[in-house]
Amino acid sequence: MAKIKYYYNTDTCNYERIRVSKTDVVLNLFGFFTLVLAIAIGILFTLSKFYDTPKLTQLKNEREAIVQHYQDLSQDLNTAEQHLSSLSERDDDIYRVYFEQKPIPQSVRRGGVGGTSRRADIYESNNSEKDLIIGTFQKIDQLHHEMLIQEKSYNLIDELAYDKAKMYASIPAIQPISIDDMTRLASMFGMRMHPLLQYERKHEGIDFTAPRGTPIHASGNGEVEAAFYSTTGGYLVVINHGYSYQSRYLHMSKFEVKKGQKVKRGDVIGYVGSTGLSRAPHLHYEVLKNGEPVNPVHYFNKNLTQEQYELIVELVAKQNDFD
Ligand SMILES: [Zn+2]
Repeated sequence: MAKIKYYYNTDTCNYERIRVSKTDVVLNLFGFFTLVLAIAIGILFTLSKFYDTPKLTQLKNEREAIVQHYQDLSQDLNTAEQHLSSLSERDDDIYRVYFEQKPIPQSVRRGGVGGTSRRADIYESNNSEKDLIIGTFQKIDQLHHEMLIQEKSYNLIDELAYDKAKMYASIPAIQPISIDDMTRLASMFGMRMHPLLQYERKHEGIDFTAPRGTPIHASGNGEVEAAFYSTTGGYLVVINHGYSYQSRYLHMSKFEVKKGQKVKRGDVIGYVGSTGLSRAPHLHYEVLKNGEPVNPVHYFNKNLTQEQYELIVELVAKQNDFD
């Protein structure tokens, strides 16, 4: 039951009833709820200082997990970096040395990888894990750079290896007469009295004695530069091996190749004879480097066993002059 209130009116000297207007009621209620709300906000604010909401707790846990992932990623990148370093070391110390290339300086391998503009948002953010995130991306950029340098180096080594293999196949490195076919290694490279001309001059090749018709083999890959008859050299063949090497084969009974023909090491290019300035069937064989005759024996490394090599040395000791 609502209480009825009165007040004493000094003007009329009477007690008069207090009448409450609807506006007063509304204002009173509004004031009450405002107070309650203010107290509630105050309590919530105070509590939130000491306790997290479930949503905040979840976000914090997720954040922690993400940070952990970044740390793991960073560790993995360190391991990858170590693997790459060991590949680089092997490259510098073995492969590049083998192919006569200088090691790549560390300054070039490491390079100056700085921040990139595509990550500007992270650099400018206030993220408390900014350093970890930036550091991780920098490691990735670093790895990219080092892998690129390593890849370039391997490409070079690849080319050099291909070229070296091609060069080794081209250099005149086998005897033109099979060790089984030859009867003697006659005149050697160097100064000697010419057997027919009877004066001292340089013998610019070596002579293999072998029966007429014994096959003569190309000593390395190359192209036939000349194949013709000359009054002194008889039927002769010149092979250009590239890499500034040539080989010459003289006094053949006949040749089996023509100018411009490509030959492989071991191909039969002609047969032993005694044409031109010669007094018995033999092959006069020369190797030229940059157009200058060199000692062919120094290049025989492809098809000789130790025993065969000793046989060659023995044959050299018993040498005889043929042209
Ligand atoms: Zn000779």
